[in-house]
Parts: sequence; C-alpha cells; structure tokens
Amino acid sequence: MITSNHVLIITILGLFGLALYATIGISIYWLMLSLIVYFVFSCLGITITFHRYLSHRSFQFRWKWMERLFILFGSLAGTGSAIGWVAVHKAHHKHSDTDKDPHGPMTGWRNFFNDYDEHVNYWSVKNLLKDPYLKKLHKYGLWILLAFYALLFMIGGVKAIVFLGLVPQMLTIVISAMSNYFTHSYGYRTYETGDDSRNTWWMSIPTWGESWHNNHHAKPHLYSFRHKWWEFDISGSIISLIREKDVR
Ligand SMILES: [Zn+2]
Ligand SMILES: [Zn+2]
Repeated sequence: MITSNHVLIITILGLFGLALYATIGISIYWLMLSLIVYFVFSCLGITITFHRYLSHRSFQFRWKWMERLFILFGSLAGTGSAIGWVAVHKAHHKHSDTDKDPHGPMTGWRNFFNDYDEHVNYWSVKNLLKDPYLKKLHKYGLWILLAFYALLFMIGGVKAIVFLGLVPQMLTIVISAMSNYFTHSYGYRTYETGDDSRNTWWMSIPTWGESWHNNHHAKPHLYSFRHKWWEFDISGSIISLIREKDVR
C-alpha cells in the first residue's frame, strides 16, 4: 500500500531528477514524453477514471478493457490506489471545508502529503472492495510501482525512470495538491453550494478541466464540468467519446 511517505519520496525524487538533468542537459524529446505520460496518468487515470468514473459513477465505459487499463494508469500516478483515492475524495465531498475535510485550504499546503490511509473509510468504498482487481492494486500498490520502475530501467535506464516515471508522478502529485488548494480558495462561483468551491480558470488546462470545481460540487453526477461554453473541459470531451451512450 502507498502511504504519504511514499508520495513525499516520489515528489522529492522527481524534483531532484528534473534538477539533475536540467544541469547536465535534457532534450525537448524527453520533456515531451514526460508531458504525455503525465496526461496518461493524470487525465486518463486519475481525473477520468478515479474521479469521474469510480468516485461519482457519472458515466460507464464503453469497453471493459479500457476501464481496466485506465485504472492501472491511475494506480501508477504515485497518489495511491483507486480504493484510497476514492475514499479520500468521498470524504472531501461529504465534509468540504470543515475540520474533517482531508484536503483543501483548511489543511493548507499540508494536503500535499496527506496520509491517504488515514482518511480511508472502507465502508464508503465497499462496492470497490468487491472487485479483486482493485483490491490487488491497493494491497500491492508499492510493489507495482517498483516493478514499473524496473521495467522503465530496462527500457531506457535511469533517464527513463526519471522522465517516464518520477517526473510525471511528481507533476500529478503537485498539480493535484495545487488544485485541491486553489479550487477552494480562488475563482468565481456559479452555484451556491454550501462550501467554498470555486471555478479556477487558470488551472483548467493543467488539471484537464478539474478546476471547474464549483460546477462539480454543484452537480457531481455530471461527467462534464463545462457548464458555460467557454469552460473548456478536455476530460469531459474525452469521456463523451469513450462512454456507453445507452446508459446515460
Ligand atoms: Zn468529485
Ligand atoms: Zn472540492
């Protein structure tokens, strides 16, 4: 299982690796690969699958193999398992901007390294616990990450571990934490939601549309966070292509 200490270590190693190669020289090619992997982990894995699908069931995948694959992408993002992520996120919606909120401005920048397991209410994810695939990814999360690094090392040595593993993971962790903080403190409100959620326009690109956060708190069952025509939500656009249209 992945804990807050592991998340902290991944972040530091990602920053250190980036700084090291910035000193000795990085090609634009490797940086582009990092951004592509960041998209795969963060957009396809975390935003679309852990958040909008597993936490809110706002759509159904058209293909089962894609659902399984995207869950694996999210599990490699360095922010813990789907079971841990969903439990923390459900607690966030239930207790937004109170002492029981696992992240947000109430906890300040400490939310970078929250102990995911500390907030896991297993009852809130009892449906996910029926899925042996999700249970295995939760139990063996750290070993799966280590196997991923070993695979990257075989493909391209230390450089591959840094640019295809640690840097995309560090970006996922840091940008998620920034999103948790800013989307409950800076931005405009379209809906009176009873919490401090905001639509933070300048984070909409790096968060793949997640920062239209007041829209999301108002209507969490909608897969698209775009409630005004100019609120660009790339995750919602991707979901419209991969969802089972007969269901919703
Ligand atoms: Zn949510
Ligand atoms: Zn929120």
